[in-house]
Amino acid sequence: MKQVLVIGSGISGLACAIRCAKLGLRVELVSPYPSERSQSVMAAGGINAVTDRCEAGDSVACHIEDTLKGGGFLAGRDAVTGLCGHGAEIIRYLESIGTVFSVNAQGRPNYRAFGGQTYKRTYYCGASTGKQIVTALVMEARRFEAAGLICRRLRSCFHSALIEDGVCHGALLFDEGSGALEAVCADALVMATGGQNALFGRTTGSTQCDGYAAGRLFTQGAELKNLEFIQYHPTTLLTPQKRMLISEAARGEGGRLFYDENGRRVYFMEDRYGPKGNLMTRDVISREIDAAGRPVFLDVSFLDGRIIDERLPEIRDLCARYAGIDIHTTPIPVQPSVHFFMGGLAVHLNHETNIRNLFAVGECASIYHGANRLGGNSLLAAIYSGNVAAEAIAGRSGAGKHPDFGKMLREERGKLEKRRQTDSRFPVMYVRDMVAETMQKQLGIVRSEKNLADGLEDVDYCISVAERINYDPNVMPYFNYSLPALLTLARATLQCALFRRESRGAHYRCDYPETDAAYQCATLIAYNGGEPRTRLDKEGEYES
Ligand SMILES: Cc1cc2nc3c(=O)[nH]c(=O)nc-3n(C[C@H](O)[C@H](O)[C@H](O)COP(=O)(O)OP(=O)(O)OC[C@H]3O[C@@H](n4cnc5c(N)ncnc54)[C@H](O)[C@@H]3O)c2cc1C
Repeated sequence: MKQVLVIGSGISGLACAIRCAKLGLRVELVSPYPSERSQSVMAAGGINAVTDRCEAGDSVACHIEDTLKGGGFLAGRDAVTGLCGHGAEIIRYLESIGTVFSVNAQGRPNYRAFGGQTYKRTYYCGASTGKQIVTALVMEARRFEAAGLICRRLRSCFHSALIEDGVCHGALLFDEGSGALEAVCADALVMATGGQNALFGRTTGSTQCDGYAAGRLFTQGAELKNLEFIQYHPTTLLTPQKRMLISEAARGEGGRLFYDENGRRVYFMEDRYGPKGNLMTRDVISREIDAAGRPVFLDVSFLDGRIIDERLPEIRDLCARYAGIDIHTTPIPVQPSVHFFMGGLAVHLNHETNIRNLFAVGECASIYHGANRLGGNSLLAAIYSGNVAAEAIAGRSGAGKHPDFGKMLREERGKLEKRRQTDSRFPVMYVRDMVAETMQKQLGIVRSEKNLADGLEDVDYCISVAERINYDPNVMPYFNYSLPALLTLARATLQCALFRRESRGAHYRCDYPETDAAYQCATLIAYNGGEPRTRLDKEGEYES
């Protein structure tokens, strides 16, 4: 029986594992924490799909065009057509396994309006869409666990891929409980490790998603794509611990952005973009808030109190808890914050990377969102990509006999052991904080050659400090061994942002403010033996 190793158990990892099991493949599902603690549970707003119950006038074709346009026409049409074309099937599947979407008095879906969409097409489950979908998928996965087709490995982290002659044969896994490093061979390795939030420090997302896997695979030969496209969500509430997301749902229900000018409210988005101004795409609103240069507020207080209590209870509660604000009466102070990563591992339409038998799904793969993601499209992409990868793996013959990776395992164990014995007591977290500060500062909403070059200099300094750190016993081994790859990823991200001398979607260069047709393709970066090389995907290597 073919063996598949899936790293990460959020929505994309679960979807892939379940589809693999249905196709008769045996899956090991690896993550440090249970699915119920993955970032996917934080998704509150909803999932986009055009079904037979859609708003009058809507169509899959319109969903495709909105997605391509929202993404600055950088995503491949074939990929987006596949994604949007499967929306209805995915909603039916989720309903069949117990996801209950909110409905109106007539029993029809209570679609929500999300940014950059011509029609309302966002399905949601109260204020906890991600949680509900994860719960349904976890229950579904359990059936296959009972049948022995899915085996969970918890407290386990990805270390590196087992690659020989351009073919992937599995991964080295680090067990956080025992501290052991183990080689696990498989016919296919599927990365489902989410975005790169922790590389940026405080974001709306989970610190479990740090980009380490992408950074490590990059050094092992996997190509990365569109790293410069980092989505700032326009409406977040700043708290000392975290950036709390004020979901687009608030604007979907009618919430209005404004700032104060001499005691007068200026509804700047509506003034500039008309009645749908508050639902422009996230890149546009974030830039407008940044340009306003003064405190901006989101007002929902004029809505019927029942709408707030029924459709926005999470926002109501988090504003009360973290800012002491009653949103029934008081506007919410909002700021843009890092939220989502359009870039990641470059994959073909079947979700395979440039390394045979190495796949990537969900947020860690870069394929559907181009230069800017539409809200509600990423839950759809997480499930769709998991299914696509599973089908591709099932459709090919197994790798046969795996090479002996004993030597590599012994070497990596030796490196870990050596580091442990040479305790330098230098705080790893200090370097992680330094790099996060640089990334936030230099890869902000508005960028320039100068600040990106400064960012590279800062990261190079972090790399030189990290080279002097052997082992910090005050943090988990994972934080020790992951640091070099994180810094490599940070460097690659800045390089991609420097390389793209134009403005498009979430990448705005004040020194190149126009969109340039010469850049109408993805940015690719290859490690190239430690001298990373950046190029434009002019040949469409990854979209056909
Ligand atoms: C606050 C918030 C709200 C959102 N709301 C919406 C929404 O309403 N609609 C929408 O479409 N999208 C939304 N998104 C985006 C969406 O939730 C994510 O893109 C999606 O859930 C990602 O799923 P995933 O399976 O790719 O990754 P995740 O759910 O992030 O799962 C990643 C998994 O990988 C594991 N992992 C990470 N690193 C390692 C490692 N080194 N070794 C082993 N395992 C590892 C993690 O533990 C986890 O199990 C939201 C995001 C946030 C942060």
